[in-house]
Amino acid sequence: MKKILMALAALALTAGPAAAKLKVMTTTSDLAWLTQRIGGDRVSVESISTGDQDLHFVEPRPSMVVKLRRADMLVRIGLDQDMWADSLVAAARNGKIVYGAPGYVDTSVGIKVLQVPTGRVDAAMGDIHIFGNPHYWLDPANSAIMARNIAAGLARLDPSGAPVYEANLTSYKKELDARLEKWREAMAPLKGTKIVTYHNSWIYFAGAFGLEIVENIEPKPGIPPSPAHIDKVIRTMKETGARFILVESYYPMKGPGMIAEKTGAGALRVASSAGGLPGVKTYFDVFDFLVGELSR
Ligand SMILES: [Zn+2]
Repeated sequence: MKKILMALAALALTAGPAAAKLKVMTTTSDLAWLTQRIGGDRVSVESISTGDQDLHFVEPRPSMVVKLRRADMLVRIGLDQDMWADSLVAAARNGKIVYGAPGYVDTSVGIKVLQVPTGRVDAAMGDIHIFGNPHYWLDPANSAIMARNIAAGLARLDPSGAPVYEANLTSYKKELDARLEKWREAMAPLKGTKIVTYHNSWIYFAGAFGLEIVENIEPKPGIPPSPAHIDKVIRTMKETGARFILVESYYPMKGPGMIAEKTGAGALRVASSAGGLPGVKTYFDVFDFLVGELSR
């Protein structure tokens, strides 16, 4: 009898309330995918935005507030990439996911942020990228730091799962390293290639693989181009011999297509997040697709 009771007690420990999954909300699809990788079956994860949305401008909806109210944890990109999440978190009035709470994870912690403004920030610089360029997840190597932040957050909320999160982090980094090697190998012949990007979102990617961005079609982040700026882009592309134009799926393709025609460059419709294009389902797919398009 005593043995049975002990067995039941042990069962209760593993299958009791402690086994309830942590409810994690993320601001982006990439973060949802990464959190699922690290959290495994101890977490249920949902992203507020989808991969085909411009992550600077996500329309807040009441359904998002309801989900945040029930969440144990919030994982965000930070800087000013997902500032729209602030009003949602405020409306949710859930102390577990506010800034500084154990369930608050900003994956930019420990990232070397590029293009941090020096000196005075004014309206002439545009309204976004005010803390530096927030598109750091597009250097795949940065995802190791992001995953580490997520693992630390999960371990804070669920200390008994810490060894699982640590093991998942280790196996993630191992797979990432193998993929990085493959991507670097495929991109090696493109080192020094000059490119143009629609939005200033690819500097981390360019840095990781030795590409050089000579112009952005947006004159400033978030500002659509004037005809005069488009002329300037065309001139620069001809002078530098830029070969590609990267355009996220949520930007218009007409301008870049016209520029491509006039310069002989290739305008590539790309995804900057999981779900950004059909067939780009995961964070790793983002790079598989892009590397495939550029190196073929
Ligand atoms: Zn941006």
